[in-house]
Amino acid sequence: AAKMEGRNTFRRFDTTMQEKAFERQNLLAKLRGALERKEMEVYYQPQMDLATRKITGAEAILRWNNPELAWVSPSRFIPIAEESGLIVEIGEWVLREACRQGQAWLESGMPPITLAVNLSAIQFQRGDLCDKVGGILDETGFEGRYLELELTESVLIGDHKRVVKTIQGLKQRDIHLAIDDFGTGYSSLAYLNRFAVDKLKIDRSFIHDMGSDPNNSSVVLAIIRMAHSLGLKVIAEGVENASQLEQLDRLACDEVQGYHLGKPMPATTFQRLLSNGVMTLPD
Ligand code: C2E
Ligand code: MG
Ligand code: MG
Ligand code: MG
Repeated sequence: AAKMEGRNTFRRFDTTMQEKAFERQNLLAKLRGALERKEMEVYYQPQMDLATRKITGAEAILRWNNPELAWVSPSRFIPIAEESGLIVEIGEWVLREACRQGQAWLESGMPPITLAVNLSAIQFQRGDLCDKVGGILDETGFEGRYLELELTESVLIGDHKRVVKTIQGLKQRDIHLAIDDFGTGYSSLAYLNRFAVDKLKIDRSFIHDMGSDPNNSSVVLAIIRMAHSLGLKVIAEGVENASQLEQLDRLACDEVQGYHLGKPMPATTFQRLLSNGVMTLPD
């Protein structure tokens, strides 16, 4: 009986593996033509300066709406796009789209803001990133000083010389660099400070825990203090309520982003918010 059970367990395990592989194949097949079929859209999530309560930027977040799959979360399709290499094409499209939109907003007289775009490690590790980004800036007319690229800590662990060279190239175009999901990786701030990084984004897990556990707000405070002493700006992500926002204000965090200010939204919706200027927030 034990043998039978063992075999059944194996079979069940085997089936889920197969299902997962099938689902990946299915997603990948649909992902291939997604850009051409215009199923991708860039959404914008507001970023606010805590001192002035003004919108200082937005993060460009990719949205995929497939007629058969409906909305697919980036956490599901980005890994598949990375494994298949499709992320290079998709990432470039997001960057071009954000720069084009940013320039259109500037030209229509909107207050200047910084647009943050996520970069995959795969895009960063290719030798041609600076040329690609520079080409997109030239093509759209968007200035590098309005662009921020979000990298994860893992990107900076790679080939040191190459990383430094890429960052220098981006800095020559006055592009800002932010470390996304900070605190979830293993690198120290001292290590990150060896690169010309401008901003840390404190991972939303720390912000989430802040209210319930005083220990967590000391972690947030420590990150903010250390970042400031190294001349870095700090933005908190995943701010979902007024209490978190007030605590971050007290801890002298520079900027905030999260559902409390607004979810990622279509360009036209964000534009309305931007033309209002100062943010009005729920209690
Ligand atoms: P991320 O860069 O850390 O982006 C923030 C994620 O947190 C987004 O999830 C956003 O919708 C979510 N978020 C924002 N505010 C809140 C909040 O207050 N509470 C909670 N619980 N969540 C909040 P999303 O859209 O699922 O994206 C997940 C990840 O996918 C992103 O994490 C980013 O790493 C990746 N991603 C999205 N767009 C792109 C892209 O164009 N290129 C690349 N390479 N990755 C992307
Ligand atoms: Mg990000
Ligand atoms: Mg993040
Ligand atoms: Mg995150």
